[in-house]
Amino acid sequence: MTARILVVDDIPANVKLLEARLLAEYFDVLTADNGADALAICDTAQVDLILLDIMMPGMDGFEVCERLKANPRVSHIPVVMVTALDQPADRVRGLKAGADDFLTKPVNDLQLISRVKSLLRLKTLSDELRARADTARNLGLDDGRIGEGKGEETPQVLLVDGRANSQERIIRALKPIANVVAMSDAQAALFEAAESPFELVIVNSNFEDYDPLRLCSQLRSLERTRFLPVLLITEQGGDDMIVRALELGVNDYIVRPIDPNELVARCLTQIKRKRYNDRLRTSVQQTIELAVTDALTGLHNRRYLDNHLAILFKRSVQRSRPMSLLITDIDRFKSVNDAYGHDAGDQVLKEFAARVRASVRGADLACRFGGEEFVIVMPDTAPEVAAAVAERLRVAIESIPFILRDSGQALHVTASFGISSRQATTDGPEELLRQADRALYAAKNSGRNCIVAAAA
Ligand code: GH3
Ligand code: MG
Ligand code: MG
Repeated sequence: MTARILVVDDIPANVKLLEARLLAEYFDVLTADNGADALAICDTAQVDLILLDIMMPGMDGFEVCERLKANPRVSHIPVVMVTALDQPADRVRGLKAGADDFLTKPVNDLQLISRVKSLLRLKTLSDELRARADTARNLGLDDGRIGEGKGEETPQVLLVDGRANSQERIIRALKPIANVVAMSDAQAALFEAAESPFELVIVNSNFEDYDPLRLCSQLRSLERTRFLPVLLITEQGGDDMIVRALELGVNDYIVRPIDPNELVARCLTQIKRKRYNDRLRTSVQQTIELAVTDALTGLHNRRYLDNHLAILFKRSVQRSRPMSLLITDIDRFKSVNDAYGHDAGDQVLKEFAARVRASVRGADLACRFGGEEFVIVMPDTAPEVAAAVAERLRVAIESIPFILRDSGQALHVTASFGISSRQATTDGPEELLRQADRALYAAKNSGRNCIVAAAA
């Protein structure tokens, strides 16, 4: 996982220590020794996560965090507060300021890395959703209300807890903000979580004879609970469990004895984040998928490509990450139409699109560019990898005949491919498309059924 992390602390030795640990994990690290510089860096550089000291002269960490969270351009960057004193009051104040997590000095190595990674994973998901929502907005498909809370209902929270007295205490603490359903049977709880519209699951690790992490992992793997936040309650000193839990995708944890204010603040943070992501996801599904999908093949259409390619290109520049693009065009497709009719041509296009879809990763963008031309945009992909993707697809087209529905006729179909990759000198997304198109033209000229990469 590559990401850029900003470390903010007024004491140089603290900065050095965190920086060294993060560099050892191959993160890209920026540093600042005061709040004003930290804000300036976030404004100009692409920062993925911030480790923020609380006690600093001038502007303290709380204020830095409040300002970040009040600025919509940077409010999505996760903030981890690094505190010298492990005071529940500090935590609650930090959460109110919008902090996403806490680490206590001296910072435990495992906790540092696992919290950072788990927050970055979440951010990757939100980034993708936001990018798509931006596209919807550019296309004028969105009513502009993404991310704004409408009249919110009281959230339903599922508490899985082996003990009646602790159930009671937690229900009482959460009474002002949520309706809590408590269960003591973990397997029954999993079923319940999948069936009912809960917005948060709290798992207390106080079972006599059940591994709470098993439930956490099941919640993550079930399709219906994949996006349901999980908050784990652990023992003092349960570092190993915490690290494993975060790796499994548990969103947050709280250590016993539970401070009711901290519990409320953490629950509200999780619910707020889930609602935000749900709204983004719904908007993405409803608006984009209908209006920018190609009706014949179900792939994205040209309109979507034009907008989303620009976003992916910009992101690739900001992060100094590679990016490649592939255009493929079916060879002598006109002869399919001529020999078997337009409907047969459509069937071939559908099957071709299915093979395109099967050959790309989730992060890739596959589109029908026009007629019998398709484009795949591959973020984070170097030229060699793009060439391998193209070759896999070329073989998948050539080696398996296309069967026509009514006649059962088997057609041998091939396609030609042009690839381009972003260079430091590439002007913009249009140039990337142009280069791939020129390479495709060269592939057609050199006999078809082959791949040509644009010169670097
Ligand atoms: P080349 O190898 O040079 O690409 O030859 P080609 O025949 O594939 O290229 P050309 O551009 O001459 O012809 C493309 C054909 O694709 C002509 C057009 O009728 C057909 N076509 C475009 N869109 C559709 C469609 O939606 N359905 C069907 N059935 N045919 C389509
Ligand atoms: Mg063609
Ligand atoms: Mg063509």
